[in-house]
Amino acid sequence: MTHEVVLIPGDGIGPEITRAAQRVVAAAGVDISWHEVQAGAGVIDQYGAPLPDHVIDAIRTYGVALKGPITTPVGSGFRSVNVALRHAFNLYACVRPCASMPGDGSRYDNVDLVIIRENSEDLYAGIEFDADSVGAGAIADTVKKQTGKELGPQTAISIKPISRAASERIVRYAFEYARANGRKKVTAVHKANIMKCTDGLYLHVARDVAAEYPDIAFEDKIVDAACMGLVMHPEDFDVLVLPNLYGDIVSDLSAGLIGGLGMAPGANIGDGCAIFEATHGSAPDIAGQDVANPTAEILSACMLLDHLGETTAAARIRAAVRVTLSSGASVTQDVRRALTGSYDGAVGTTQFTDEVIDALSRMV
Ligand code: ATP
Ligand code: MG
Repeated sequence: MTHEVVLIPGDGIGPEITRAAQRVVAAAGVDISWHEVQAGAGVIDQYGAPLPDHVIDAIRTYGVALKGPITTPVGSGFRSVNVALRHAFNLYACVRPCASMPGDGSRYDNVDLVIIRENSEDLYAGIEFDADSVGAGAIADTVKKQTGKELGPQTAISIKPISRAASERIVRYAFEYARANGRKKVTAVHKANIMKCTDGLYLHVARDVAAEYPDIAFEDKIVDAACMGLVMHPEDFDVLVLPNLYGDIVSDLSAGLIGGLGMAPGANIGDGCAIFEATHGSAPDIAGQDVANPTAEILSACMLLDHLGETTAAARIRAAVRVTLSSGASVTQDVRRALTGSYDGAVGTTQFTDEVIDALSRMV
């Protein structure tokens, strides 16, 4: 069966790592018809915007995309392509599995957790008021009237919307994910002891939803304690579900537990649409040099294959990546440095990908 998938190479190292992922998927024998479209700063001159309509249309038509990182330059006058995609497709859940692989260059060998981050609200809703703006003044006045508290002059304000609906949707997604993937426990991460209204609501909803899933264990952890726990005993964690801001921070922390951003895959899930992409950015400092680590993008492609029902191929690719990394001989410079303290002896993106394909061909 041929699967129809949109491919957005992205910018910086994007084209190199998406190309690597495509090659590995083809070598695993999965038949994909790629619909390649371009987005990002490079297309602004041609289409007048970094996210042209035909890109949106393609994703809407096929419902699934593999994407490279895209950095929207500050001051370009356009909003970030990633944010625009999130809005266009209501990509409310960001899923980032973090699993140790031998030879990944990290300090741990026992990490196997999944971060599920709420993507639509919280402090990232972008509702902010400059200290000098009328908005900040009006809010300060309201706060004064209602609570008697003085916010003081020259105080900028950011608003943190947490809704019952979005909290329920993300926690339910986490439990459904746990069930579908044979996971045993969901940990809701919050700061409800301090933010009693917002995180309090989130925690309350999480407990209610958890009661509907008696087959999955549930616990909640305060975000600071969760961070310490992740660093000291990552094996204690299984599925974590977090509001947007904590989710952003804790997913990078968790990537650090498995060898860094070059290792960490991700998916953005919406209603009827899913976009798969590495956790990291476009890494302009190493773009075009054939040195980027394509592992995160290859593993993102594995998540895409799981999504398409090609679970055997996904498992074979993951095994081939493991074999290649564990040999320790053919790793990209980021991993080489983590293992030995130096870039010496590292291989390039293309050679690493060749080794993964070679390992695939040696597997039954
Ligand atoms: P963004 O704002 O898009 O998240 P960022 O500023 O966080 O970007 P990244 O582009 O993610 O930055 O890169 C952070 C660092 O990690 C850079 O030094 C980059 O070279 C390195 N890096 C990121 N991805 C990879 C990769 N796949 N392989 C090797 N190094 C990487
Ligand atoms: Mg970043």
